[in-house]
Amino acid sequence: MPPPIEMGADKMNPFETALQHRLEQQKTAGRYRKRRSQRDAGVHTRINGRAMLTFCSNDYLGLATHPRVVEALCDGARQYGAGGGASHLVNGHQEIHDRLETRLAQWTGRERALLFGSGYQANLGVISALMSRGGHVVHDRLNHASLLDGTRLSGARLHRFAHGDLAGAAQALAGLSPDADRLLVSDGVFSMDGDCADVNALARLAERHDIPLMIDDAHGLGVLGAKGAGTLEAQNVALDQVPILVGTLGKALGTQGAFVAGSHALIESLIQFARPFVYTTSLSPALAAATLAALDIVQTEPERRAHLHHLIQRFRRELLTLALPDIALMPSETPIQPLLVGDEQAAMALSERLYEEGILCTAIRPPTVPPGQSRLRVTLSAAHTEADLDRLLETLERCCRTVTS
Ligand SMILES: *Cc1c(COP(=O)(O)O)cnc(C)c1O
Repeated sequence: MPPPIEMGADKMNPFETALQHRLEQQKTAGRYRKRRSQRDAGVHTRINGRAMLTFCSNDYLGLATHPRVVEALCDGARQYGAGGGASHLVNGHQEIHDRLETRLAQWTGRERALLFGSGYQANLGVISALMSRGGHVVHDRLNHASLLDGTRLSGARLHRFAHGDLAGAAQALAGLSPDADRLLVSDGVFSMDGDCADVNALARLAERHDIPLMIDDAHGLGVLGAKGAGTLEAQNVALDQVPILVGTLGKALGTQGAFVAGSHALIESLIQFARPFVYTTSLSPALAAATLAALDIVQTEPERRAHLHHLIQRFRRELLTLALPDIALMPSETPIQPLLVGDEQAAMALSERLYEEGILCTAIRPPTVPPGQSRLRVTLSAAHTEADLDRLLETLERCCRTVTS
């Protein structure tokens, strides 16, 4: 055996040197990202042995740690296996997947649904299956990164209109040849701003130009609407107006994975042509079982949503009574309640101060949001108590005073 290669700084090869150089640039720009390892899931966790209260999770209904969901996962693993063992088209597709797909289709009022390993894969899969070079995909500027990456993967041309600008969207659509493949795409709830698309207005535009509309409702499903069926339910959108709906399982449903819901022909097309569906291991059947349990809770315990919406309103009402200099509460009726700070370093400093006080709430900065729009992205959960919210508000007020003065 040859001796192990030493990787001392003085012996770095050009590849390692180039990587180090890029990392240093990232640090100099103040954009270096790090993970923090926590113990215990849920809003009350521990980091480095310290108790922390978190306000940055997407587990909006607290289902990731719900005993019935966890039990269904364990039970599902015992019955069906921890992993699918193959792709859905080989032999990784089980009856439990069918059952979940049927339930998701019913919940969202569609003919069919199709499971994906993640929302990121679902978006790559849908857009690359439906579009090709020569096609055109029209996006809201704040659409999720996976929708942009799906467009890139498809080779279609990317068109973006200013966030929420319907006139801009109309103009982009009017400029496209009706002979080309075209698609209009928007998030239902925008993940960094927390506001909602006007889906009815987008649907009217799409209809006028005879273009299919795709809505990614990762943050709306489970949270918005009386049945928790998301932005479309909350806005009373006729289902045939949105032929392509994407939902994720890792947010309000508390598990992992995603689905696309739509017509029989749409789902069959994705099974044939969506490479991120075809060439990957099936969703864990244990996760499918856990998601069925989560969906039961979403559909039968509307009080979780009611508590969450109560916390959202209380947070907004009381935050506005605090004197927080240089910080703006953004308009949002969802659990995503960003506090706009502006400057990148100031947003980081505020997040650090909260951390010292035992509150975990991450700063979001470029390139995730535009320069000058760095923010603290507060997210609320049905797992938070009134006392948790008291503590957030009181700590925010104290920390803002020391950071901005
Ligand atoms: C989180 C998110 C995704 C990605 O979903 P994952 O299952 O986490 O990969 C896609 N779209 C939007 C709008 C999201 O917020």
